[in-house]
Amino acid sequence: NTSLHALDPEVAAAVDAELNRQQSTLEMIASENFAPVAVMEAQGSVLTNKYAEGYPGRRYYGGCEHVDVAEQIAIDRVKELFGAEYANVQPHSGASANQAALFALASPGDTILGLDLAHGGHLTHGMKINFSGKQFNVVPYHVDDAGLVDMAEVEQLAKEHRPKVIIAGWSAYPRQLDFAEFRRIADEVDAHLWVDMAHFAGLVAAGLHPNPVPYADVVTSTTHKTLGGPRGGIILARNKDFAKKLNSAVFPGFQGGPLEHVIAAKAVSFKVAASEEFKERQQRTLDGARILAERLTAADAREAGVNVLSGGTDVHLLLVDLRESELDGQQAEDRLHEVGITVNRNAVPDDPRPPMVTSGLRIGTPALATRGFTAEDFTEVADVIAETLKPSYDAEALKTRVRALADKHPLYPAL
Ligand code: PLP
Repeated sequence: NTSLHALDPEVAAAVDAELNRQQSTLEMIASENFAPVAVMEAQGSVLTNKYAEGYPGRRYYGGCEHVDVAEQIAIDRVKELFGAEYANVQPHSGASANQAALFALASPGDTILGLDLAHGGHLTHGMKINFSGKQFNVVPYHVDDAGLVDMAEVEQLAKEHRPKVIIAGWSAYPRQLDFAEFRRIADEVDAHLWVDMAHFAGLVAAGLHPNPVPYADVVTSTTHKTLGGPRGGIILARNKDFAKKLNSAVFPGFQGGPLEHVIAAKAVSFKVAASEEFKERQQRTLDGARILAERLTAADAREAGVNVLSGGTDVHLLLVDLRESELDGQQAEDRLHEVGITVNRNAVPDDPRPPMVTSGLRIGTPALATRGFTAEDFTEVADVIAETLKPSYDAEALKTRVRALADKHPLYPAL
């Protein structure tokens, strides 16, 4: 019964310091969010002690009657949330979900078509040293000069290479994808369509982004980005055609015992995601990103060499192009960190600088929206960011403005 602070003060100190960092700074990494206390309570529960290889009602261990309940609730809720007939809530992460999805839909050596990592795709969509790039024949597609996914190129590459799987999804892209068009192309070349909605799943759950489930053969997601739950992955499908393959790819294909404590936390987060409060929060997330994009395309920002890729956003993030700025991605990330804003540097398409430096930033609003930020707050955030990226920035004054915003919206006050 010894508490963490008593048993291990060193680790407790790191946890406390991280809580303080989250409370006192503005978190604008587009893939991050703040899980509700109830989600963390489930995740920190005794369910962590239980082995439950298999699926609800069909386990390889005894004593699974209670974790079966929690896992079945998670499955039922997520199916309802996204209108799916099939759900697997066991993947330990987004990458694990993607690995299982890819191996259920294709075999090593098959051709897959995915958005180039350097143009906003994810590692698991075919990066050279990821499992996807090592074991599959990857044909990448790209964004065009306007920063939009080039559907004409997708169609042309699909016809030329006849891929087994077409992947639609992204980690750094500020617009919506045309799922119906991806489906049409997939059908034309007899390919499976896999949508990775890890980034925008929360928007879909709130009805503020088209739902890929009716179009795709398989949909994967993380549960910790816009969806706002515990760190983890899920796999969904519109029907049960791939159910057996998907289930056996997850277990025993790639995983052993499921993380039932995380699955219980996923169940809680799916309940939250079905609420009106969640929908309102996702609307503020979108409004915040739009306000940031508008303020960062204003004349004074452009004078400082700041440009917004694709000219705006219709999701929870925007991509800042710094090729005309005196700052590179690393310097801009460091400078925002100095005033208390956390973002990540991000390559722009065909970036002249190396991946560790880059010429861009990815800025997201989910975590601040969860914190309660309104349109007015996001306007102030946008102005602080624009000021910080100017050569004449005043670090002390900007730190004070950041602190005021953080104080206005206390995070985890009871912790
Ligand atoms: N898919 C997409 C589109 C992502 O952006 C990410 C995470 O960045 C993942 C999958 C992987 O998720 P995880 O980090 O949980 O493995």
